[in-house]
Amino acid sequence: MLEADLHRLAHWLRLLGQDAILLPGDINKADVIKHPERVFITTSRKLEEHFKAWGIDYLILPKEDWKVQLCLLIKYFQIEPVLKLDRCYHCNERLLSISREEVKERVPKKVYLYGRNFTLCPYCGKVYWRGSHYPKLRRTLREVLGSC
Ligand SMILES: [Zn+2]
Repeated sequence: MLEADLHRLAHWLRLLGQDAILLPGDINKADVIKHPERVFITTSRKLEEHFKAWGIDYLILPKEDWKVQLCLLIKYFQIEPVLKLDRCYHCNERLLSISREEVKERVPKKVYLYGRNFTLCPYCGKVYWRGSHYPKLRRTLREVLGSC
């Protein structure tokens, strides 16, 4: 579980197949203790005493570039640094495989014809496919790993 400001990091964790939820708003006890099984990830040192009092697992990241933060998390949680693309980037839900025919009405014609590996988020209904954005994501990930 990440503080709201770390949304970019949460998105990347999801791309790597990690179950990462975002705090909806400011850090507050009610929201944080709702998920006792999760590690709360934040850059806020000033609330550390509260985290201890709330009895939660937490990790304080340096206020650095998100790429540096992602490297730290990959090392800390021993995350396999590959694009899994099995979770919804937006809502963290696990994606379901769907066939080309099933997406026909929902994606542009070009995507229908040339897209591969179609998946659907059962929560928000977003359709994903492996297209031109995929090499770009891989490049960005390589960059991140290169700076680790
Ligand atoms: Zn979704």
